[in-house]
Amino acid sequence: MNQQPVLNPIQAPGTPLAQWQTCGLLQATPAIRHEQLLPPGCRLVVVAPHPDDEILGCGGILAGMAGRETEVLLVSVSDGEASHPNSTHWNPGRLRQQRPRESAEALRRLGLHLPQLSWLRLGLADSAVASRERWLGDHLRTLLQPGDRVLSTWRQDGHCDHEAVGRACAQACRISAAELIEVPIWAWHWAHPNDPRLPWQRARKLFLPRDVLARKQHAIAAHASQVQADGKTPPVLEHEALARLLQPFELVFI
Ligand SMILES: [Zn+2]
Repeated sequence: MNQQPVLNPIQAPGTPLAQWQTCGLLQATPAIRHEQLLPPGCRLVVVAPHPDDEILGCGGILAGMAGRETEVLLVSVSDGEASHPNSTHWNPGRLRQQRPRESAEALRRLGLHLPQLSWLRLGLADSAVASRERWLGDHLRTLLQPGDRVLSTWRQDGHCDHEAVGRACAQACRISAAELIEVPIWAWHWAHPNDPRLPWQRARKLFLPRDVLARKQHAIAAHASQVQADGKTPPVLEHEALARLLQPFELVFI
């Protein structure tokens, strides 16, 4: 018996930015200041499923950390080798080399450097993070300290890796007395304004000053494999996706 085809919410046409801009719940979402979200002295641990999620989801928050005393740890869960399944140019081997280089350049553009920034790459298989979710949660527990602010992709973001990373972070935070902050990335694409599936009560907006937003945009552009067309195939991050992720605020679920 054939299985019922499942519509992948990420493949469907995305919600345009113009629709989000009329969203009453988004307009009514309370603001949060950088120092409320990340009190001085608290380490920020960003756990990114793929190289670029740390910039797309929280590049503004990261840029706001640059030059502060606070330590930042970036955990890159995979090297993002599955972003171009049908490409001859961007084959998995090439992407495994390229995408971490793009992340390094993007972090440099945000103004984050050693020793403030530490970076750990776990090298789990892109698109199969869920199969190592328990290991990931256990490993994160060995890294976390009480009081850390852990920023991960939202547990219901609509991409299997994003959700597995969110769940592993939530579990590790519970045990380690760290605080979880989740960010939506693909939800901007599949959700619709006032969507009841989004946790609006936990939502806060962190507004980005114009110079910070410009640095985030510059950092996103470092991810050439994602923002440039591959021959006749449109980029993974097409114009509308970038517009949604370059609003003058970052949405967080606390
Ligand atoms: Zn991702």
